[in-house]
Amino acid sequence: MLGVLPDIVALREAQARLGTTVHRTPVLRSAQADRLAGAQLFFKCENFQRTGSFKFRGALNAVRALSPEQRRAGVISFSSGNHAQALARAGQIEGVQVTVVMPHDAPSAKRLATQQFGASILGYDRMRQDREALAAELVAREGYTLIPPFDHPAVIAGQGTCALELFEEAGPLDALYVCLGGGGLLAGCALAAAELAPGCAVIGVEPQAGNDVQQSFQCGYPIRIEVPHTIADGAQTTRVGDLTFAIICARVSAIETVSDPQIIETMRFLAQWMKIVVEPTGCLAAAAAMQRQPADAKPQSRLVGEAAVRRHPQQARPRIGVVLSGGNVDLARYAAWLAGA
Ligand SMILES: *Cc1c(COP(=O)(O)O)cnc(C)c1O
Repeated sequence: MLGVLPDIVALREAQARLGTTVHRTPVLRSAQADRLAGAQLFFKCENFQRTGSFKFRGALNAVRALSPEQRRAGVISFSSGNHAQALARAGQIEGVQVTVVMPHDAPSAKRLATQQFGASILGYDRMRQDREALAAELVAREGYTLIPPFDHPAVIAGQGTCALELFEEAGPLDALYVCLGGGGLLAGCALAAAELAPGCAVIGVEPQAGNDVQQSFQCGYPIRIEVPHTIADGAQTTRVGDLTFAIICARVSAIETVSDPQIIETMRFLAQWMKIVVEPTGCLAAAAAMQRQPADAKPQSRLVGEAAVRRHPQQARPRIGVVLSGGNVDLARYAAWLAGA
């Protein structure tokens, strides 16, 4: 039923297919973040990826994996967020026509961002029409290939290349925190970790208000929730994917949640201390990593001064990877969040 789940071979193929068309994004460090977390944090900065998020990896990998016939017919998707922009740009680079099904009332900035990369937008009424049915109709009528935002083998494999790069650059990690919506990024990163860093705990982080994957993870089957109210708009998914869930169940250690106030605090921290703009959804993993209770906090509390330093040298602190997944944020809202409005 699930078809072929991607594996490390698919990730390596994706890495070769993407080549240098994707940016090898930097891995940043921050002494201040390390101090707060009681760990050594390695931030993989996908906010610097082309089109502003990791979604470009999965989209480009999926487009490059198409057959010549599929390329000629074009592709379709139904996201108004980062996947739409990423797919539009991937299609533009590859000369493949992209159609995005987007509600008539989608923010104009999102329509423009998608249109500027040459995609055509098909508007629909979100009260009366079902976007997935509409996309399915076009697949049948026009012969388009559907490239969904997360539940697709080539998309998952493409997203996982960001963790491949992180492990290559940062070396061994004790844990990896990953932002979580429908699970494409988490599943891809978990596949990379299973192969390159079998001892590394992989932790997905979703908004508290929309913890459907956490609930699904606990009960063992995918549950559906109402559209959650959270500022993390890239994680407002109502149900995990089937492929992504199978991989998450097999390879992920835990799912954690963070609140909107924690997300805002993290956005502010990243701007102030690391000078980087990260969108709310992009802060999920960092928010969880920086609030974690250091495992060595208790024994250390009995020691003071130099003794504590000697007993807990920097090298003994856990090495933790954190994916900063994207940086596409409306600047007026961003400024208001940073100002505490
Ligand atoms: C889409 C998105 C996510 C969630 O990714 P999934 O693969 O749906 O879990 C996280 N952060 C950003 C910035 C995104 O655009």
